[in-house]
Amino acid sequence: MAPKLRVVIVGCGISALTTGVYLLETVGAEELSVRVYGDPAQALETTSCGCAGLWMPFHIEPKDKVREWARLTYARFCQDSKRPETGVRFVQAFKFMETYPGEADLPDWREDVLDFRIVSSGRVPKRMHLG
Ligand SMILES: Cc1cc2nc3c(=O)[nH]c(=O)nc-3n(C[C@H](O)[C@H](O)[C@H](O)COP(=O)(O)OP(=O)(O)OC[C@H]3O[C@@H](n4cnc5c(N)ncnc54)[C@H](O)[C@@H]3O)c2cc1C
Repeated sequence: MAPKLRVVIVGCGISALTTGVYLLETVGAEELSVRVYGDPAQALETTSCGCAGLWMPFHIEPKDKVREWARLTYARFCQDSKRPETGVRFVQAFKFMETYPGEADLPDWREDVLDFRIVSSGRVPKRMHLG
Protein backbone atom coordinates (compact mmCIF):
# COMPACT_ATOMS: atom_id res chain seq x y z
CA MET A 1 0.00 0.00 0.00
CA ALA A 2 1.27 3.48 -0.87
CA PRO A 3 2.25 5.69 2.11
CA LYS A 4 -0.45 8.16 3.21
CA LEU A 5 1.87 11.15 3.43
CA ARG A 6 4.44 12.34 0.94
CA VAL A 7 7.13 14.61 2.34
CA VAL A 8 9.45 16.66 0.18
CA ILE A 9 12.61 18.08 1.74
CA VAL A 10 14.54 20.76 -0.13
CA GLY A 11 18.31 20.88 0.35
CA CYS A 12 20.77 18.17 1.24
CA GLY A 13 22.65 19.49 4.26
CA ILE A 14 22.55 17.92 7.73
CA SER A 15 19.23 19.60 8.61
CA ALA A 16 17.51 18.10 5.56
CA LEU A 17 19.01 14.62 5.91
CA THR A 18 18.43 14.43 9.68
CA THR A 19 14.83 15.55 9.25
CA GLY A 20 14.27 12.85 6.64
CA VAL A 21 15.79 10.09 8.76
CA TYR A 22 13.98 11.26 11.89
CA LEU A 23 10.60 11.31 10.14
CA LEU A 24 11.11 7.82 8.76
CA GLU A 25 12.29 6.49 12.13
CA THR A 26 9.46 8.03 14.15
CA VAL A 27 6.51 7.86 11.76
CA GLY A 28 7.58 4.88 9.66
CA ALA A 29 7.93 4.16 5.95
CA GLU A 30 4.42 2.65 5.80
CA GLU A 31 2.90 5.98 6.80
CA LEU A 32 5.04 8.37 4.79
CA SER A 33 7.54 8.62 1.99
CA VAL A 34 10.41 11.10 2.09
CA ARG A 35 12.04 12.60 -0.95
CA VAL A 36 15.10 14.80 -0.61
CA TYR A 37 15.73 17.30 -3.39
CA GLY A 38 19.24 18.65 -3.59
CA ASP A 39 21.45 19.85 -6.40
CA PRO A 40 24.11 17.11 -6.94
CA ALA A 41 26.51 19.76 -8.23
CA GLN A 42 26.21 21.54 -4.87
CA ALA A 43 26.34 18.44 -2.66
CA LEU A 44 29.96 18.93 -1.66
CA GLU A 45 29.47 22.69 -1.28
CA THR A 46 27.00 22.60 1.63
CA THR A 47 28.06 24.03 4.97
CA SER A 48 27.45 20.57 6.40
CA CYS A 49 30.11 19.08 4.14
CA GLY A 50 32.72 21.45 5.52
CA CYS A 51 31.87 21.21 9.20
CA ALA A 52 34.02 19.43 11.77
CA GLY A 53 31.12 17.38 13.08
CA LEU A 54 31.79 18.07 16.75
CA TRP A 55 29.14 18.40 19.46
CA MET A 56 29.91 21.65 21.28
CA PRO A 57 27.00 24.10 21.52
CA PHE A 58 28.09 27.72 21.04
CA HIS A 59 26.92 30.76 19.03
CA ILE A 60 23.43 29.28 18.90
CA GLU A 61 20.18 31.07 19.65
CA PRO A 62 17.73 31.18 21.38
CA LYS A 63 19.80 30.47 24.47
CA ASP A 64 16.88 29.36 26.65
CA LYS A 65 16.14 26.52 24.22
CA VAL A 66 19.63 25.57 23.12
CA ARG A 67 20.63 23.71 26.27
CA GLU A 68 17.69 21.33 26.06
CA TRP A 69 18.27 20.79 22.33
CA ALA A 70 21.94 20.11 23.02
CA ARG A 71 21.07 17.62 25.77
CA LEU A 72 18.70 15.76 23.45
CA THR A 73 21.31 15.65 20.70
CA TYR A 74 23.96 14.45 23.13
CA ALA A 75 21.66 11.67 24.39
CA ARG A 76 21.05 10.61 20.80
CA PHE A 77 24.80 10.61 20.08
CA CYS A 78 25.32 8.42 23.17
CA GLN A 79 22.88 5.87 21.72
CA ASP A 80 24.28 6.12 18.19
CA SER A 81 27.87 5.69 19.37
CA LYS A 82 26.97 2.12 20.36
CA ARG A 83 26.28 1.33 16.68
CA PRO A 84 29.44 1.73 14.57
CA GLU A 85 27.43 2.00 11.35
CA THR A 86 26.16 5.43 12.48
CA GLY A 87 29.68 6.90 12.30
CA VAL A 88 29.18 8.56 15.70
CA ARG A 89 31.99 8.04 18.19
CA PHE A 90 33.41 9.60 21.31
CA VAL A 91 36.91 11.00 21.17
CA GLN A 92 38.89 12.99 23.69
CA ALA A 93 39.04 16.68 22.76
CA PHE A 94 40.86 19.61 24.31
CA LYS A 95 40.10 23.31 24.21
CA PHE A 96 42.75 25.71 25.45
CA MET A 97 42.26 29.35 26.39
CA GLU A 98 44.80 32.16 26.59
CA THR A 99 42.98 33.87 29.44
CA TYR A 100 41.27 32.46 32.50
CA PRO A 101 37.56 32.94 31.92
CA GLY A 102 36.50 32.44 35.53
CA GLU A 103 34.20 29.74 36.84
CA ALA A 104 31.04 31.58 35.73
CA ASP A 105 32.27 31.72 32.12
CA LEU A 106 32.91 28.02 31.76
CA PRO A 107 30.35 26.48 29.40
CA ASP A 108 27.09 25.47 31.08
CA TRP A 109 26.99 22.26 29.04
CA ARG A 110 29.88 20.94 31.12
CA GLU A 111 27.26 19.54 33.51
CA ASP A 112 25.55 17.66 30.69
CA VAL A 113 28.45 15.62 29.31
CA LEU A 114 29.98 12.43 30.63
CA ASP A 115 33.53 13.51 31.28
CA PHE A 116 34.25 17.26 31.39
CA ARG A 117 37.51 18.06 33.16
CA ILE A 118 39.82 21.03 33.68
CA VAL A 119 43.21 20.05 32.28
CA SER A 120 45.96 19.95 34.89
CA SER A 121 48.41 22.84 34.47
CA GLY A 122 51.27 20.53 33.37
CA ARG A 123 49.33 19.57 30.25
CA VAL A 124 48.42 23.10 29.13
CA PRO A 125 50.62 24.32 26.22
CA LYS A 126 52.88 27.36 26.70
CA ARG A 127 51.11 30.76 26.58
CA MET A 128 47.76 29.07 27.27
CA HIS A 129 46.11 29.55 30.61
CA LEU A 130 43.49 26.89 30.89
CA GLY A 131 42.21 23.80 29.14
C1 LIG B 1 34.13 25.61 9.25
C2 LIG B 1 32.86 25.16 9.95
C3 LIG B 1 32.95 24.20 10.94
C4 LIG B 1 31.80 23.80 11.61
N1 LIG B 1 31.90 22.84 12.58
C5 LIG B 1 30.80 22.41 13.23
C6 LIG B 1 30.90 21.39 14.21
O1 LIG B 1 31.97 20.88 14.51
N2 LIG B 1 29.75 20.99 14.82
C7 LIG B 1 28.53 21.53 14.51
O2 LIG B 1 27.52 21.10 15.10
N3 LIG B 1 28.40 22.50 13.57
C8 LIG B 1 29.50 22.94 12.93
N4 LIG B 1 29.38 23.93 11.98
C9 LIG B 1 28.03 24.47 11.69
C10 LIG B 1 27.28 23.46 10.79
O3 LIG B 1 28.12 23.10 9.70
C11 LIG B 1 25.98 24.08 10.27
O4 LIG B 1 25.20 24.56 11.34
C12 LIG B 1 25.17 23.03 9.51
O5 LIG B 1 25.97 22.35 8.56
C13 LIG B 1 23.98 23.67 8.84
O6 LIG B 1 23.33 22.63 8.15
P1 LIG B 1 22.09 22.92 7.22
O7 LIG B 1 21.62 21.60 6.69
O8 LIG B 1 21.11 23.75 7.99
O9 LIG B 1 22.66 23.87 6.08
P2 LIG B 1 23.61 23.51 4.81
O10 LIG B 1 24.57 22.40 5.12
O11 LIG B 1 24.16 24.82 4.36
O12 LIG B 1 22.60 22.96 3.74
C14 LIG B 1 21.65 23.82 3.14
C15 LIG B 1 21.08 23.08 1.94
O13 LIG B 1 20.02 23.87 1.39
C16 LIG B 1 20.28 24.09 -0.01
N5 LIG B 1 19.71 25.40 -0.34
C17 LIG B 1 20.05 26.61 0.19
N6 LIG B 1 19.31 27.56 -0.35
C18 LIG B 1 18.47 26.96 -1.22
C19 LIG B 1 17.44 27.42 -2.09
N7 LIG B 1 17.12 28.73 -2.14
N8 LIG B 1 16.78 26.51 -2.84
C20 LIG B 1 17.09 25.19 -2.76
N9 LIG B 1 18.05 24.69 -1.97
C21 LIG B 1 18.72 25.57 -1.22
C22 LIG B 1 21.79 24.02 -0.15
O14 LIG B 1 22.18 23.73 -1.50
C23 LIG B 1 22.10 22.86 0.81
O15 LIG B 1 21.87 21.60 0.21
C24 LIG B 1 30.51 24.36 11.28
C25 LIG B 1 30.43 25.31 10.25
C26 LIG B 1 31.58 25.70 9.59
C27 LIG B 1 31.45 26.72 8.48
